[in-house]
Amino acid sequence: MSIIVQNMTKRFGRTEVLRGIDLTIESGELVALLGPSGSGKTTLLKIIAGLEWPDAGRLQVEGADWLQLAAQDRRIGFVFQHYALFPHMTVRDNIAFGLTVRPRAERPGKAVIDAKVDELLEFLQIAPLGERYPLQLSGGQRQRVALGRALAIQPTVLLLDEPFGALDAAVRRDLRQWLRGVHDATGSTTIFVTHDQEEAFELADRVVVMGEGRIEQIGHADQIVDHPASPFVARFMGATI
Ligand code: ADP
Repeated sequence: MSIIVQNMTKRFGRTEVLRGIDLTIESGELVALLGPSGSGKTTLLKIIAGLEWPDAGRLQVEGADWLQLAAQDRRIGFVFQHYALFPHMTVRDNIAFGLTVRPRAERPGKAVIDAKVDELLEFLQIAPLGERYPLQLSGGQRQRVALGRALAIQPTVLLLDEPFGALDAAVRRDLRQWLRGVHDATGSTTIFVTHDQEEAFELADRVVVMGEGRIEQIGHADQIVDHPASPFVARFMGATI
């Protein structure tokens, strides 16, 4: 699904968090929102998800005005940094959650849900873990379950907020490769937030560099590295590479 954000602004109290965002994402693209902490990345992601509301601007997904749609009608898969799994539910029940809370008329039967969960457990390479509880899993395994829960509803758009931020370097690298594979297999339009340049450049088709509520540059990794569009981007690249 293509996503078009036009002239979007948002403030929290006196803080201008988004200062006029224009962004077009093509259907099936894997895009990183990259920038320092506080640059507005998560706020933009949450507005697309329907978890926050902009002060002004437009948001169109596949031509439809998404600001008119309630969050539950947007079919968003959202993965948070800290998993947000339900600790009292098994892995299977966590993955099935988004399907079981659909309105009765749209809710699949138990057999269909079971088959879908089996398929996802296999796809996410966590088939033996279905009856475990989140506390019995490693961080990397929990994040696979979180992605399974997001994918179960067959999202129109997959949004990930610092999905690997809480994991150690080796697991991050593994999961990065794996997320790329998941994206290539599902073809869903995917946006992920990160402050880690390496992660953005390795994973994304295009990188959106944000600073202080503005988009500073949009491009492929080598364009951004070789031709930073502003002193801000040059400084940001230099700061952590
Ligand atoms: P990033 O994801 O780039 O770190 P955020 O979008 O989380 O940036 O935050 C941008 C700014 O908005 C920060 O200064 C943050 O403190 C502020 N902010 C975010 N959410 C809220 C909120 N619910 N209430 C007040 N301020 C907020």
